[in-house]
Amino acid sequence: MSKDDPAPDAPYYLENGGEVALFEQCHRRQLAVMLKGPTGCGKTRFVEYMAWRLQRPLITISCHDDLSTSDLVGRFLIGAAGTAWHDGPLTRAVREGAICYLDEVVEARQDTVVVLHPLSDHRRMLPIDKTGDTVAAAPGFQLVVSYNPGYQRMLKDMKPSTRQRFVAFDFDFPPPEREAAIVAHEGQVEPSLAIALVTLGTRLRQLRDRGLAEVPSTRLLIAAARLIGGGIPVADACYAAIVAPLSDEPALVGAMRDLVGASF
Ligand code: ADP
Repeated sequence: MSKDDPAPDAPYYLENGGEVALFEQCHRRQLAVMLKGPTGCGKTRFVEYMAWRLQRPLITISCHDDLSTSDLVGRFLIGAAGTAWHDGPLTRAVREGAICYLDEVVEARQDTVVVLHPLSDHRRMLPIDKTGDTVAAAPGFQLVVSYNPGYQRMLKDMKPSTRQRFVAFDFDFPPPEREAAIVAHEGQVEPSLAIALVTLGTRLRQLRDRGLAEVPSTRLLIAAARLIGGGIPVADACYAAIVAPLSDEPALVGAMRDLVGASF
């Protein structure tokens, strides 16, 4: 967050380098955006911050493999007054000129994601098959999707015809001093503890080479900081918030516990 953002309700976001200006340009030029990066590294917070900065409503949709086109676009529902059309969250965002954030978009089936195509190019249109309407996107509407390229990479990926509609932003865990500032702010702990947690996180991330599929995110380090700040002993907090969520494999859990012991 830059110093010239005085509004008290600004979501806390520490910029990594250039992504705020790039996103503003994408918004101005009506370009759809794709945020790539591991889970818990700040993608959602970034979108919240940009929506605040651009003064746009934000509509977030968590994608999963049961998500249907009707869940996005809307459906006819039977009520007391008969059958009436109800907009889905995507249609609401298109009409309101909101930023529509589809989190973990690769979780949605390809046939569901196709509905985004006419919205993510110059047409900026949403055809609603069930009503026969075509809704033009209001000014300010912007499509933002996120995905974690490492996760289930072999099983799921986005079709090239979908990917090529987005300007891609690469996200990763911030450099240690910046990550420590985030952990201290969000975890409400002293900088020295935040630095120690980030150092531990950096060491644990190296276990990826030894088979740790998901490495500790900034989110997990913040959770540990909050527990410690609340009076939980450091080793217990690190086990509960960082080690246990990451693996059930005894050898990996043992290796992580050893690293916790060596760090504090
Ligand atoms: P993602 O959407 O990538 O899974 P989030 O945006 O939810 O991750 O990030 C997890 C948490 O980490 C956030 O709630 C926030 O507390 C913190 N965080 C990560 N990166 C930043 C950042 N650059 N500035 C401020 N907070 C951050």
